[in-house]
Amino acid sequence: MEEGILIKFYGGFYYVKAGDQLWECSLRGRFRNQKQNILAGDRVLITFRDEKTGVIEKILPRTSELNRPSVANVEQVLIVFALKNPDPDFLLLDRLLLISRQKNLPAAVIFNKADLATNDAATEILQTYQKADYESILCSTKTGLGLADVGAVLKDKISVFTGPSGAGKSSLLNAVSSGLALKTGEVSQKIGRGKHTTRHVELLPLDFGGWVADTPGFSVLETPSISREELDDFFPEIGAYRGGCRFTSCVHHKEPDCAVKDAVAAGTIDPGRYQRYLHFLQEVTEQERRY
Ligand code: GDP
Ligand code: ZN
Repeated sequence: MEEGILIKFYGGFYYVKAGDQLWECSLRGRFRNQKQNILAGDRVLITFRDEKTGVIEKILPRTSELNRPSVANVEQVLIVFALKNPDPDFLLLDRLLLISRQKNLPAAVIFNKADLATNDAATEILQTYQKADYESILCSTKTGLGLADVGAVLKDKISVFTGPSGAGKSSLLNAVSSGLALKTGEVSQKIGRGKHTTRHVELLPLDFGGWVADTPGFSVLETPSISREELDDFFPEIGAYRGGCRFTSCVHHKEPDCAVKDAVAAGTIDPGRYQRYLHFLQEVTEQERRY
């Protein structure tokens, strides 16, 4: 038996990359009544029938499982925002970071279209997220800036892209891995816009090794279910000050002697990030009241 990775399936056929080859496989009988249980990204053991076809004998345990898109074994999320056109929505960015962290998926933040922003503006945004402990990359598919860094993050991993439409996700993937040839721009039927809405996720191979889901990740409608007291864990550069607050249960809002508020006043915590922290604090408070 050989180990491989399931990259797509349709019409009863399962396409498994094992060694250097794509094998058209069927499922061993005992799996057939639990079809919903196999996902792109699954690591499987196959036996061979001939030079091109095989049989999936076993599905190996998953390290992670995402719904929307349904992919197994995703190792990281790449959150892509444009610095301009469209302007970044930082509340959406921070929400995507919260959701990633809650799913235990490492996230990298990619700020694209650096060619449209001033150096100062770009640097300030980049530093805000570097201080928050996220791998943050500034790039441009027009000038080539940062593309090698994006490639290095993607290499040999299974990744999901997310971020608003028009940020440049498809352009970025094309720029780092020309073999993909995804369509871009308004007239496109590009990443995430498959013809069939019921279609399964497919993993796309990167030229230099690694895989990316062809469907962007997460619904932004999800409110992360986090408790008030643990929210600052999700804002690492804010949580770092917690030890200095007078109350151990401090949520850094109305409490006196709060080290976080002091750090915001001193300019060591980005005021925008703190405002968004407060926004999510209110959201999770309302959620706690409801249940
Ligand atoms: P997606 O919806 O996130 O997949 O975005 P696309 O890849 O389709 O890109 C949206 C538009 O932004 C297209 O017209 C691209 O040509 C343009 N674009 C992508 N990257 C850059 C960039 O780095 N700089 C500039 N100025 N435009 C870009
Ligand atoms: Zn506090």
